[in-house]
Amino acid sequence: MINISNAKLADGSVVDVEIDNDLISKVTKSSGTVSNGSIDATGQILLPGLVDLHTHLREPGREDAETVLTGSYAAAAGGYTAISSMANTYPVADTAGVVEQIYRLGKDAGLCDVNPIGAVTKGLSGEQLAELGAMADSIARVRIFSDDGKCVSDPLIMRRALEYVKTFNGIIAQHAQEPRLTINAQMNEGSVSSRIGLPGWPAIAEESIIARDILLAEHVQSRLHICHLTTAGGVELVRWAKKRGINVTAEVTPHHLLLTDELVENYDPIYKVNPPLRTEKDVMALREGLAEGVIDIVATDHAPHPEEDKDCEWQAAAFGMVGLETSLSVVIKTMIESKMLDWSQLVDRMSIRPAQIAGYKTQGQSIQAGSVANLLLLDPSASWQVDRSKLKSKSRNTPFHGMTLPGVISHVIYNGKQTVIAGRVLNMDGDKNG
Ligand SMILES: [Zn+2]
Repeated sequence: MINISNAKLADGSVVDVEIDNDLISKVTKSSGTVSNGSIDATGQILLPGLVDLHTHLREPGREDAETVLTGSYAAAAGGYTAISSMANTYPVADTAGVVEQIYRLGKDAGLCDVNPIGAVTKGLSGEQLAELGAMADSIARVRIFSDDGKCVSDPLIMRRALEYVKTFNGIIAQHAQEPRLTINAQMNEGSVSSRIGLPGWPAIAEESIIARDILLAEHVQSRLHICHLTTAGGVELVRWAKKRGINVTAEVTPHHLLLTDELVENYDPIYKVNPPLRTEKDVMALREGLAEGVIDIVATDHAPHPEEDKDCEWQAAAFGMVGLETSLSVVIKTMIESKMLDWSQLVDRMSIRPAQIAGYKTQGQSIQAGSVANLLLLDPSASWQVDRSKLKSKSRNTPFHGMTLPGVISHVIYNGKQTVIAGRVLNMDGDKNG
């Protein structure tokens, strides 16, 4: 039994909460007192645990960058009770065997749901459909398929994939990037790229695929999800598709809500990411899209890389940033502090809607008796300074190092079990548990 006293909910009410086994057993108006042995949540906000639909865990194959276990530590520290591991591992998660392996590793870690995403094509080659049905039927019950990191660029393969997943209400998550328009691309194509002489990545490379896939999804009446939207034009296209009643959803990453391509000026590869950081105008359009609900969710695109892959010359460096541990704070900074979202809307974009899109039934539930106890408690008025050496992730490639961000997570509860207690992640040993 866990008791939480004096917690404020997203709607502003202040309550006492009782958790019995894996369920919330009671939610009552706060008595104003903190009973013995209960968590004192005075001044803190209690929210449903966060749900990420875009996480790179690197296991199997690149355990030097991240494992399912270390990624789970990072997820718990960031307030997540469910994450979704992308398929670009070694071997690729394109068979029932690999997704079941990842699923089991997630269960063993036991700190959050780890839901594998299956590859759309064998080996992410873009040429032949992977075993979508076998992955859907496996114990991992895969519903999201993506070649993320690569675009499913062949329109016929994309059409077949969209058609195939309809039989089990699956969804294709597209990394929208026309490969012919991004050969050797290094950063956003614009005034900064021409000034500093790095090969540019035009917005249209993303937008042309989004437009094509929206039309394909409409044509075959299937479900399309656009990964990490980055351009103002992309937001327009999704807005148009939704108005037309097309079944499309979209995500934005925290880093694309805050950072711009101006940061690339000093060639620091910490800012090298795929899709690239865009312009201030794009950032504003993404924030508006998220506020309006045109962009459905925030997804981290947590992409861990070891130091040797990031601490080198720009051209040689890997694309990607870690994000699980900073995501909530960056969204508070960009969306709550600017009053573009209120707390209930933040919960919608970071927990309820991602759970709905993916069909994660025990996640994104409202805080009431009978719901599965997946919860996070945070102090919204406190702030913290990001220190890459203290990250729970195995990798350190955060672009937010040194930044002071709002919102400090004190407790996380996953299926009724505390995974973060007073800021400390359960079962982490040694000095990493700091
Ligand atoms: Zn991607």
